[in-house]
Amino acid sequence: MNMSKNEATTCNHNVPSPSRLYHLEPIGIGTPFVESYSSYLTRVAHAHLLAAPDLVKHVISPEITDLVTARNKTPNKSYKLSWVVNGLSTSTEVWIEALSNLTLRDDLAWTTLLRFRQVFSERKLLREEKAWCPHCFDRWKNEGLPIYEPLLWMIAQVHACPEHRTFLLCSCPHCGEDMPLHKATKAIGLCRKCGNWLGDDGRFRRDPTDEHLRYATAIGELLAHVPCCKEIALNTSIPHLLDYLVERRTKGSEIGLAKLVRIKQIYIGDWRQGKYLPPLGAVARICRFFNLSLREAVLGEIGGEQQLIRLQMNMDH
Ligand SMILES: [Zn+2]
Ligand SMILES: [Zn+2]
Repeated sequence: MNMSKNEATTCNHNVPSPSRLYHLEPIGIGTPFVESYSSYLTRVAHAHLLAAPDLVKHVISPEITDLVTARNKTPNKSYKLSWVVNGLSTSTEVWIEALSNLTLRDDLAWTTLLRFRQVFSERKLLREEKAWCPHCFDRWKNEGLPIYEPLLWMIAQVHACPEHRTFLLCSCPHCGEDMPLHKATKAIGLCRKCGNWLGDDGRFRRDPTDEHLRYATAIGELLAHVPCCKEIALNTSIPHLLDYLVERRTKGSEIGLAKLVRIKQIYIGDWRQGKYLPPLGAVARICRFFNLSLREAVLGEIGGEQQLIRLQMNMDH
């Protein structure tokens, strides 16, 4: 952020133009604990000694307006509603592009679920309030690592930390305050109301069930592999998976599959035909029922017939 946009363009062509915001690296790309976009934006803001909403108001929003206007569209409120765009909506794409332009990073898409926009429905995908693992916060603090919020914690289906085998907390253990995701905090890891450290676990500890841990592990594994998946295989992986299950596991009966996994047949039919996208929770449940890897089912790395053969091999062993 040392030079203005105009100064930067007068540089010698052999010298790369500096980014307008710090070229901060997102944490944990390629791991189950990849950083979320909202966490990354907050850390960039703090690196510039700003609160996230101020960075958004004075730097990112003008960039978004330029981007949207350049596409001959009128900037509307939907692009500006919230900076918590960790999901897979159209506004997520614009926010990624804006922050990528400002930081000159090309890996910010991995801090969101955008790669799954042709795979999962947006409905009930992300939670609206923060959830966190106090032991993760504490470990990072004790080891002098950056404190951040992984994308995994934003996903509504995830209730436990697969590393510490503990429930995520959803309210401050000191004052009980819930934390809406879009409300800025002074620092990540501190309660926005009382300011206390959120790395203390609550007084009432409960251990998560194996089921909670399996879902969190499976979704974490999926997030870890996103950067190496092919979008074209993703777009057809769920219809292929459902076709395969109907053909091979329920003797061609769609209603048989629906009954087994306790999901209405009309939904299974719509997802098979690609009419609507399934929620992540439903796909995770189907995979869990048939003891399939969520990652392999969703990423469909080789696609088509080969993918079916691979799935068959997994199920036969
Ligand atoms: Zn943890
Ligand atoms: Zn508090």
